[in-house]
Amino acid sequence: MARDDPFHKVLKAVARVREPGSKPEEDLESMDRYTCDLCQGIKEREDIIQCGFCGRWVCRKNCWERKFKACESCSGLIMLAGTSTDEEE
Ligand SMILES: [Zn+2]
Ligand SMILES: [Zn+2]
Repeated sequence: MARDDPFHKVLKAVARVREPGSKPEEDLESMDRYTCDLCQGIKEREDIIQCGFCGRWVCRKNCWERKFKACESCSGLIMLAGTSTDEEE
């Protein structure tokens, strides 16, 4: 519960792309399909998941890192935050 744990660092570092609980981007051509915010692939509703850090909706297959429970983009930051021992402030 320390303030400087990696996850809080990441939360502060990540730019919010979407608000938590906001809806994924709907694909206009096909109903019930959504666009992955990272790879722009068209996905079924159950194949995409919202990243709790940046709010992006990403596909589980390509853009979701289960290990970190975050999208690919945020996972990179989590890794950096997790391995860095430097205090930033
Ligand atoms: Zn994707
Ligand atoms: Zn993310």
